[in-house]
Parts: sequence; C-alpha cells; structure tokens
Amino acid sequence: MVVVKFGGTSVGAPTQIDQAARIVFEMREQKPIVVVSAMGGVTDALLQAGEAAVTGQTRVREDKLWEIRSRHDQAINELFKDRSVAVSVQDTERIIWEEIQKVFTGVSLLREMSTRSRDLISSFGERLVIPIFAQYLTSLGQDATPIDAREIVITSEESEFLLVDFEETRKRCQKLVKMAKAGTVPIVTGFICSTPAGITTTLGRGGSDYTASIIGSCVKAQEIQIWTDVSGVMTADPRIVPEARVLDRVSYKEAAEMSYFGAKVLHPQTIMPAVDESIPIRIKNTFVPDAPGTLISAETPVRQYNVKTVTSITGVTLVSVEGRGMIGVPGVAGRVFTTTARHRISVLMFSQGSSEQHISLVVNRQDGDQTVKALKREFEAEIERRRIDRVASISDIAIIALVGEGIKGVPGVAARAFGVLGTASINILMIAQGSSELNLSIVVRQKDAHRAVQLIHEAFELNK
Ligand code: ADP
Ligand code: ASP
Ligand code: MG
Repeated sequence: MVVVKFGGTSVGAPTQIDQAARIVFEMREQKPIVVVSAMGGVTDALLQAGEAAVTGQTRVREDKLWEIRSRHDQAINELFKDRSVAVSVQDTERIIWEEIQKVFTGVSLLREMSTRSRDLISSFGERLVIPIFAQYLTSLGQDATPIDAREIVITSEESEFLLVDFEETRKRCQKLVKMAKAGTVPIVTGFICSTPAGITTTLGRGGSDYTASIIGSCVKAQEIQIWTDVSGVMTADPRIVPEARVLDRVSYKEAAEMSYFGAKVLHPQTIMPAVDESIPIRIKNTFVPDAPGTLISAETPVRQYNVKTVTSITGVTLVSVEGRGMIGVPGVAGRVFTTTARHRISVLMFSQGSSEQHISLVVNRQDGDQTVKALKREFEAEIERRRIDRVASISDIAIIALVGEGIKGVPGVAARAFGVLGTASINILMIAQGSSELNLSIVVRQKDAHRAVQLIHEAFELNK
C-alpha cells in the first residue's frame, strides 16, 4: 500500500488534475490512498476573502469567492464532457458552497475571524477539490471515493498547539485500508482535521504533506509519495538559485532540518511519523513523472563537500537581551524561554554569547513586539538595576541554514561560509550550530538573504 499526495500546483487546473489522476490510475495495482491539497492559491484566496469580510470589504470578499467558484466550475466543465456527470459533481459542490456562504455571512456580521473560524474557512479549498478528483479518476475507469479527513485525522482541542491523536487516527484509517483493498481509491483532503468534538482544525499552512505522512504511518504504508512541481528535494530553492540540483537521496534528519529552515517542498512535521515506522518518503514531479525524484530515508551518502543544501527563512525578527551585568544573573536563558513559552511564542533559533553578555533569539515577525514587551516585563528588576542594558529587536531578518549530515565534525564549514559572506560585505547578525551538528544557521538582514543563499550554494559547489 502506498500513500500518494498531490500538492496545490498538481491539482491547480483541469490539465493538472488530469495528469495527477493518470498517475494514480497507473499505480492502481498498488492500492493507493490519495491525499490532495486545495487547488494552488485557493487557501490564500479563502483567507483573503475572510480578511475582507472582517474589514467590511464586501466587494473584495465576493470577488475572491467568485474567483474560487469559477476555477472549480471551469475544472468540472472541462473534465466532464458527460453533462449528467458534471451536474452530479456540481450538486456535491453546491452543498459545500451553501456552507461557505453561511460561514462568510457569519464572519461579515461579527467582523471578526477567530482561529476556529480561520480553520473552518481554510478547510473549504481541500473539500471543494476532492469530489472533482474522485469523479475524474472514476471516469478514467478506476473507482474512487472522496473522503473528508475530518473523519479520519483527529487532533487535540487546541488548534494553536495542535497534537495529532495517533491512536484514534490509526483506528479511523482502517476505513481507508478496507476501501483500498476493496478496489476503491480513497481521495482524502489534505491539511484539514478535527477535534474529537468535531471542530474543524488544520495542520498549518502546507500541511497536506503532514496529512500524507500521518496516514502513511497509520496504515504502515510501504512508501509515502509527495508529488509536486519540482523533481525532488533540491540543493536550494530553485526560485532563488536557478542552478540548484535535485538530490537523489536525503536522510530523514536532513529533510527535517531543511524543511524546518524554510525548504517549502516539505512541511516540517512530515518526517516524524515516517521515521517512527521507517517508511521511505519519495518526492516526485507530477509534470515529469519519469524523473526518479528524491528518496528520503534513514541512510544517505555523505557529501564530500559536507553541506548538502542551503535554505532560508525570511520575515523573521531577531530579539536580543544585552548587558554586561548579565554575568551572575541567575538563569537568564531559562527565564527567557519560560517567558516565550508562557506567551506561546515559538523560538526558531537561539544563541548565547559565551561571555554571557548577550542572548539572542529569532521569532516570527508577528511575535516580535510581544516578545520584546514580555521580556522587558520579565527582566524589569534587572533593567532597573542596570544589570541588563536593553531588550531590543531587529525586524526584517532572515535565517540561512546550511544542512548536511557531513557537517558533523568537519572543520572549516563555518569559516568558508563566513568567508564568502564577509567578502560580499554581508553582515552576519547571529550564528548557531544545531546540537545535532547537522546544520549551521546564520542570521543576516532580509535584503541580503537571496544573495547569501546564492553565494553559499556557489562556495560549496552544491550544483556539482
Ligand atoms: P505543493 O503545492 O506541491 O505542496 P509547494 O509549493 O508547497 O508545492 O512546494 C514546492 C516548492 O518548494 C517548489 O516549487 C520550490 O519552489 C520550493 N522549494 C523551496 N526550497 C526547495 C528545495 N530545497 N527543494 C525543492 N523545492 C524547494
Ligand atoms: N492548502 C493548504 C495550504 O495552502 C495545505 C497545503 O497546500 O498543503 O496551506
Ligand atoms: Mg506544499
């Protein structure tokens, strides 16, 4: 059994849906369970319509919804030449559209969008596409049934720090196994899930990859395939480094590290469930299906140049706590973390100067101000006694991460990276090496991020 996931670009338009469905058709003997994302751009459009509803921009809201509706209508009209089939898919879509109208009326009246409403609003993209995909596969001659993942993937009540209930999810996945064995391909919505009480939650942006690995681990799949618009995991984001190269093999650890540090090709949480069951993950290109893709598994060849990929996260904020008097202030680092945890701020990166004069952390842009305020409050007494001089922040920064199993214990990686950035006059604001020694992270200003990625890619000859 294999779990096969298609991302937004792989189902973004009728020709793409045709391509993706044919790939599934070809592998029907392997009893696939298919996971599908919303059409590319639809989740964004839904959320924009939501924001417009909150701010009372009725026209914008209606335009966005119309745009989404016509994309689905167009797909239905182009894919189903048999009118009676098209009408029956339209009927299924109409029920979802009635719910969409109600939800948006509610948001417009309240002029507020809670996390719960946001999750519900963003769930419609996946829900609208699965009836089309399933019916199209059926028209090709392979029976398929759309499945709403809210019946399958169950999470904790809290959507901010959501945890998947693997035990319950595993039980519910049996339905998919039975279906696949009986010869029907389940077409499951990616990204969305629900609490035991039936409240809609999501796995976070880009979360359909995670859905695939959750289901893959629950059904003990032989392989989890992520079909996307690039031919695998690459040495860098090809939009930043055009000469980036596809990697044949990547280890679980490398993949986890690089997705955490911004490689959008995989949602950061995708790896864990696969590791637990030792299931290989294969990244494949929907539009070049014969390309071998990338195999992610426990082992990987270590590269001579030590570094395998360079990734970046932009739009983050650097917060620092500084002061010569910090020496001897007990547990500063501990208190910093307790404070961020209390405010539910996630810290992407952390470093402490050996002189104890300086603690820096990187947080998401939206958490920047709150982090500074909370830390100022926490260290009020120390600031008053001038033991801590200041808590400050710099916004618009980026983290550049060099990732590779080979970095471990190899001297000179940092020196070479700093060297090329220095020569290009790119200022380094902070550095950290993961304790796994699998990555080296460098903080620079956002304006320098692309250049830094390109220079490092070149310096480590990652294209070779
Ligand atoms: P999908 O809709 O299939 O989930 P995504 O847009 O989420 O696709 O992810 C694929 C994109 O990730 C690629 O088009 C590519 O631009 C980007 N990307 C960023 N870093 C990397 C990388 N290191 N390797 C491959 N792709 C990357
Ligand atoms: N549709 C969701 C998003 O745009 C999930 C995904 O694409 O994986 O974030
Ligand atoms: Mg994605």
